[in-house]
Formats: sequence, C-alpha cells, structure tokens
Amino acid sequence: MKKIILLAVGLAMLTGCAKQERVRQSEFMLDTICTITIYNEENKDKSSDELISEAFELCSDYEKIFSRTVEDSDIYRINHSNGQPVEVSDDTIEILEIAEHYSELSAGAFDITTAPLSVLWDFEGEAPHVPPAEEIEALRAKVDHTKIKTEGNTVTLEPPVEAIDLGAIAKGYIADRLSEYLRENGVTSATISLGGNLYAIGSNEEENRPFYLGIQDPKAEDGSILGYVTTSDKSLVTSGDYQRFFIEDGVRYHHILDPKTGYPSDSGLCSVTIISDSSVDGDALSTSCFVLGLDQGMELINSLDKIDAVFIDNDGNMYFSDGFDGEIEYTPAE
Ligand code: AMP
Ligand code: MG
Repeated sequence: MKKIILLAVGLAMLTGCAKQERVRQSEFMLDTICTITIYNEENKDKSSDELISEAFELCSDYEKIFSRTVEDSDIYRINHSNGQPVEVSDDTIEILEIAEHYSELSAGAFDITTAPLSVLWDFEGEAPHVPPAEEIEALRAKVDHTKIKTEGNTVTLEPPVEAIDLGAIAKGYIADRLSEYLRENGVTSATISLGGNLYAIGSNEEENRPFYLGIQDPKAEDGSILGYVTTSDKSLVTSGDYQRFFIEDGVRYHHILDPKTGYPSDSGLCSVTIISDSSVDGDALSTSCFVLGLDQGMELINSLDKIDAVFIDNDGNMYFSDGFDGEIEYTPAE
C-alpha cells in the first residue's frame, strides 16, 4: 500500500499534476466583506492560510492609515489639522498624488474633498435622510481638490477645504498592494475581493482557464451576477448606485456624489465597471465615470491605454468600451 501511495505521489510530481487545494478566507474589513482565495502558490515556507492571514494583516495596516474615522490614521490627522501641515506616510502621499491625477483627468468629477458632503449625507448611518438644501450648498463650497497641498511627506489642507475621504480609491490601492505581496511570496493563482474591487492574480490554475470575474446585476436585490468578464492578471472594479443608498419618497439616494451639485450623481448610469491592470486606476475611474456619465465617461476610457469598461444605464442598457472588440470577453450569465 505504502509503495502505491509513494508511486502516486512520485508520478504526480513528475507530471506536475499535483493539484493544490484551493484555500479561501473572508474577513470584515474596509467596511465590507473581503475575501482572498489562493488556487496555487509555490512558497516553500508558508501555507496558503498563512499567506492569506498575512495579506489581511497588511490590509488592516492600510486601513489604519487611510481610514477617515480611525483616530490617529493619516487621514484623521489631516482632517483634524485646522490647516496646519501634517506629516504622513509614503503611501498616503502616493495615494493623494494618484487621486489628484484622476481629479484632473475627470475635470473634477472625482474629488476626495467631497468628504464633508459624504458625512452630511451619512449613507452608512442608521436613518439617513436628504439633508437641507442650504447645508448641502454650504458644504459644496468646501470642495476643491486643488487645495490639497503636498510637499515631501507633509500634507496641508488650504481653505476652504477641511476634509478628505479616500473611500473612492483606497480599496483599489490596497488591492494592488495585497496582490504585490502575494505574488512576491510565490502566489501564482489567486483572487482578491475587497467589496466591489476584484483582482485576479494569474489565471485559474485549478481549472486551467482564465478567471471569470462577475459584474453584479444592479437591479437585482439578491446580488446576482449579470455576466462575467474573462480575464487574467487584471482588476475589475464596480461603482454602483446599489452599493450604498437609501430611499426617500420613492427616490433612490446613493453614495456617489457629484461634486458640482453636492447631490448623488444623476448621470443616468447605475453601474460602472472598470477593467485595468492596476486596481487603484480602476477604483478612481469607476467613481469618475459614474459621475461623468455615458458619453464623457466612455470617451475617457477609450482614450486610455489598457483600460476597459462596462457601463449600465438606468434602463438596464449595457455599453462596452473598444477593448471588448478583441482583447476582453464578456459572457452573460445563464
Ligand atoms: P466608489 O464606491 O469607489 O465609487 O466610491 C464611493 C465613495 O467615495 C463614497 O462612499 C464616498 O466616500 C466617496 N465619494 C463619493 N463621491 C465621490 C466623488 N465624486 N469623488 C471622490 N470620492 C467620492
Ligand atoms: Mg471608486
């Protein structure tokens, strides 16, 4: 018997067909459910479970830097600095520079200084309601991304800006860091899901095929999938009006704000999915395009190299960027 087992193991090693068990863990982090699944890794010292636990520790470290509400985070200290310079980490400087890039690229549709408006709308609160118009107007005047000044490792918020919020970009930045960490530690096949941010490392080695990353049906309340994007080594990020919202007098008020009005963006889109190499680009662009709307958003996506998108409008129509004519494939769910 022993001989047979040894022979089987030996054969599996020779033919390279020893299949690794898929390992998956979920944690509640970044205000959402985060799941990491490893399909294959070649790390001689650490198990897949250990690698996932370490990745979650890294995620928690980033949350402690980027959170608006965790006291002592870089963002908390910036928001409580009363206009004084604040010393922050390299990661915070980097993410602020990326945010500024997308604010410029989107002509202000993406703006992390919308923070006071998000606090006022309080979409995560117990009983959110539409704030008084005068209050929205007063806080809209505090939105201006050009007033975030960085020099070396210091950040200063100049008046009228009082606060920033990385909710539209942090998950993408963190997904990139986690994928780097896992790759550096021998992971060749894995998926990372941080709420609406998905990232595929390599392809699905368990089934010898690319990964199928799902786009949620924005109109289905059970979170069912509308279709799949077939891809390897890519990020897929969705911004949707169904992710955080409340209904008042029959109207849906969702968490993606138009910095120009101070109200939830009313561009006619209800879901924007970006497919890109880096998840921080996808995260910033999904929010940007949601606010820009179909025409301007799709024009922006088609002007960018190696970035693709699927937009869904309020009537359920789907729109695909040019890359779907060849490189990327979309398959509707059955
Ligand atoms: P996302 O789900 O990535 O589209 O990001 C939405 C989150 O980003 C919201 O919950 C707010 O915290 C913040 N936010 C809302 N509107 C904007 C905007 N126009 N630009 C940047 N951040 C925003
Ligand atoms: Mg985003």
